[in-house]
Amino acid sequence: MSLPTGLIFFPAFDWSISPTHPERQERLLYTRDQLFEEGIMDLPQIRELSAATTNLKQIYRTHICVPNAGEQVTDAHLVAVGSCLKMADAFYGKEIKNGFVLVRPPGHHAMWVVHGNRGFCNINNEAIMVNYIRSKYGVKKIAIVDTDVHHGDGTQDIFHHDPDVLCISFHQDPQTLYPGTGFIHELGGPTAFASTINIPLPPGTTDQGVQMVMDHVIMPILEDFEPELIINSAGQDNHFTDPLANLRMTAAGYARLNEQLKPHIAVLEGGYAVETALPYVNTAITLAMAGLDYSFVREPGLEEFTQSENATRSIKRTISQLMDLWKNRKKVDLDKIFGTDRFYSRQRNIYYDTEGFSDTQKEIVYRCSECSGYLQVDSRARHPNGVQYHIFAVKVPFHCCPRCAKMAQEAFSQEIDKNTHTHYYLQDIGGQEFHMVWGNNHQIIYFEE
Ligand SMILES: [Zn+2]
Ligand SMILES: [Zn+2]
Repeated sequence: MSLPTGLIFFPAFDWSISPTHPERQERLLYTRDQLFEEGIMDLPQIRELSAATTNLKQIYRTHICVPNAGEQVTDAHLVAVGSCLKMADAFYGKEIKNGFVLVRPPGHHAMWVVHGNRGFCNINNEAIMVNYIRSKYGVKKIAIVDTDVHHGDGTQDIFHHDPDVLCISFHQDPQTLYPGTGFIHELGGPTAFASTINIPLPPGTTDQGVQMVMDHVIMPILEDFEPELIINSAGQDNHFTDPLANLRMTAAGYARLNEQLKPHIAVLEGGYAVETALPYVNTAITLAMAGLDYSFVREPGLEEFTQSENATRSIKRTISQLMDLWKNRKKVDLDKIFGTDRFYSRQRNIYYDTEGFSDTQKEIVYRCSECSGYLQVDSRARHPNGVQYHIFAVKVPFHCCPRCAKMAQEAFSQEIDKNTHTHYYLQDIGGQEFHMVWGNNHQIIYFEE
C-alpha cells in the first residue's frame, strides 16, 4: 500500500494581530470541522501528525532578526515552523508520501532581514523548512511554487541570490494588490538569474487562467529545473469569495492545481474567506494530494466563472514573455542587466505595513565565478518602540567557495572595527553558525547543537 498524506493542524489560538483581524484562528477551525464532517480524517490515505515546536536556532539559519529572534517570534511562530520541520522529517523518514501543513501565522512576506510583521508574517515558514532540509538531508535543488494571491516577496527575497532554489510565484497583478512587487522582470540576482519567476495575473482570472500558466509556464519550467523537492506555498486568497483580493479560483481549481503540481509538501499561506473558501479549498487540496476523488467538494456560491477575453489575452502575453525569457536565460548578457562591477548592489525601502515603518536597505552580493557569492546588507529602521536600529549583516551561503567565506569573515570584522552600526550579524550557513555582535557582546549560535 502506498504511503499516506500527512496533515498537521495548528490554529494558533492565542496569536492574532488584533481580535477582528482577518488573520485569525477561525481560519483553521472551520477547515478542521469540514475534514472531520466529510470523514476524511478516518481514511487510511490520510494521517494526522501532531503539531510540533522548534527552537530559535532554526530561525537563525534563514533570517537576520533585529535585534534578535527572541524579539521577533512568539511561541505560535515556533509551532508553525516546527510543524513544517516535522512534516519534512516525516517525508524524508518515509512515513508519508506528501504532506499539507495547515498552520498559522503565515510566512511568505517575511524577508531575509526581519524588523517586524509584514503582510501578517514575521518569519518565513517555507524558507526555514527549505534551509533545514538542505542542511539536514543534503538536498540541493528545491522549487517553491507560491500560489497565494499575493506575491511571495519574502520568499523571493530570501532566495534572490540562490541559484539552487527556484521561486515561482503567481499572484494578482502587483499594480492592483499588496505588496506591489512580483513583476515579470524580477528574475533574481546576478548569480541566480532566472531562479525567480513571477507570473502576474489580471483581476478576474479564473481556474482557466491558472490552468494556462500551470500548463505553459510552471510545469515546463519545473521540468527544465528538475528540482528534487517541490513545495507549494498554498495561499487560498485567490478564491472567488476572498475579501482581500479579486481572483476567481474555486476549490476544484485548487485541487486540480495540486494534482498537476504534485507538491511533496504544501504549507498554508493566506486565505481569509474563513467560512466560504478555506474549509472547501483545504479539503479539496487534501483529497487531491492523497489521490482521492474531490469532485463532491462544492463551496457555497459556486458557479461557472467565465474569464474575460481581455484577461485571457493578457495571460497569454505574460506566458509568451516569460517563456521567451526562460528559454534564453543562459544566453543573456548579465553585465547588461547588472553592470560590470564585481559587487552588485541594490537599494530598497521595505515597508512594514502592520506597524507602519520602513527599512532602508542596501544589499551587496559578490559576483563570484566559483559560487553564488556572499551577501552583505546595511539596514536601518526605527522600530515602533522608538529604537533606531542600524545593522550590518553578512551571509555565507550554502555551497560557498573558500575564498568567499574568507572575504565574508573579513567584511564582518572590518565593519565591527569601524563601529558605525548598532548590531552586526554573520550568518554562516556552511559553517553552521551565527554570530551576533552589539556593544561589548558577542554571541555565537551553533545550528547543529
Ligand atoms: Zn495572500
Ligand atoms: Zn565564491
